[in-house]
Amino acid sequence: MNELDQLYQQIILEHAKLRHGQGILGDPDGESFQVNPTCGDQVNLQVRLDGDRIGELAWDGKGCSISQASISVMSTLVEGKTIEQAEHLHEIFSDLMNSRGKGIDPKREEELEDASAFVGVAQFPARIKCALLGWMALRDATAKAQAKGEGQ
Ligand code: ZN
Repeated sequence: MNELDQLYQQIILEHAKLRHGQGILGDPDGESFQVNPTCGDQVNLQVRLDGDRIGELAWDGKGCSISQASISVMSTLVEGKTIEQAEHLHEIFSDLMNSRGKGIDPKREEELEDASAFVGVAQFPARIKCALLGWMALRDATAKAQAKGEGQ
């Protein structure tokens, strides 16, 4: 294993332990429960919007280190960003996961900050869904929150 791989593995293991953003919001605007049946990973993710921004995000989940670390990294990345910015990051992350481990344009990859540590996961097709689980939950929760806002 080279130095970069070791660094990436360290980031993933630290986030799996740290679980940044883990918690429960009293009165979320949107909520999403997602399951990855192939691995058994679960997440329940809640958001509270501040205008078009993700004001607060909280989640609880269980499953493999990759799934839980990815949710933790994503939480640090998207909190305070606009929904549009979060969607943009989701697209870059999906492209990274579908890059078969070859990586993507370094300028786009930079935008992912710690989330670029998951590049190695792209070599294991069965684990890609683990890494994407939190992002799916985020997209669903923000869509529900926006729909609720428009209904008022
Ligand atoms: Zn998993």
